[in-house]
Amino acid sequence: MAAAAAPLRAASPTRLAYFDDMWALRSPATVLSLHQEEGGRTAVVLDATIFHPQGGGQPADTGVISGAAWRFLVEDVRVKDGVVFHYGRFEDAGGDGCRPELDKGQSVTLEIDAGRRSLNSRLHSAGHLLDSCMTNLGLQLEPGKGYHFPDGPSVEYKGVIPPDQLQDKKAQLEKQANELISKGAKVLVSVFPYEEAAKLCGGALPGYISQDSTPRIVKFGEYPGCPCGGTHVADVADIGNLKVTSIRVKKGVTKVSYSISP
Ligand SMILES: [Zn+2]
Repeated sequence: MAAAAAPLRAASPTRLAYFDDMWALRSPATVLSLHQEEGGRTAVVLDATIFHPQGGGQPADTGVISGAAWRFLVEDVRVKDGVVFHYGRFEDAGGDGCRPELDKGQSVTLEIDAGRRSLNSRLHSAGHLLDSCMTNLGLQLEPGKGYHFPDGPSVEYKGVIPPDQLQDKKAQLEKQANELISKGAKVLVSVFPYEEAAKLCGGALPGYISQDSTPRIVKFGEYPGCPCGGTHVADVADIGNLKVTSIRVKKGVTKVSYSISP
C-alpha cells in the first residue's frame, strides 16, 4: 500500500474496445493513470476499455479491474474528451487514500458485470427496434433522445401522433415489436467510412455526424441502420418480450415509454 501519488495526465483518448467487440466481458488493459478527483472519487484511466461509460442514453457498466494483488471495484464509468474514467474503490482498502501501488504501464484484467451489461444492451436494442417499428407503422417521425436506463426507458420523436390515434398506435407498436423480436434478426455493429455508413442508414446520416469521421453503425437485419455508440444484443430475438407502457405527446414531441421482460 502506498500513499496517493500525483495524478499522471491521461491526455490520449481511451480505445473503446466494445466498439469492435461488444460481447467481450473480460479483457487485458494497461494502466495509464490513477488519481483522486476533487470530491474524493478515485479514477483509473486505461489505454483501452470494455467498460461502457454512461452516455448515449445508456448507463455505465460496472465490474472489476484486477492487478496482481488487488481488485478495484468499478462503480461508475464516465468519458470526457475521449478519455474514459473508471470510478470506484479498492477492495479491502485501508482508507485514507491507502491503496496498492499502481504504476503507469502496469497490466491489468478488466471484467464487467455480465448481468447488468446484458440488461443494458437489451434495453438499448429495444429502443432502436421501436424506431424501426414506428417507421413500419407509417409514423415518419424523426428519432430524438433515447433513455435506455432500467428505471423507465423511453424513446422520443420529433412530431406528434394525433390524440385519437394514440391508443391504437400503442397497441400496434407493441404487437409489431414483439413480432420482430420473435422473428429475430442478426445485429450488425461496426465502424464504416462515412459514405458507406450513410448508405447503411438509408442514404443519409444526421447532421451532427462529421463528414470526415468513420461512424459506428448499428443495423438490425435488413432494416436501415443508425449511428450509435452503445452496446446491443447479438440478435433481435435476445431482446425478450417488449411492452409499450405509454405514448405521450408534449410540446411537439412524442415520447414512447417501454419495458422488457426481466
Ligand atoms: Zn443507440
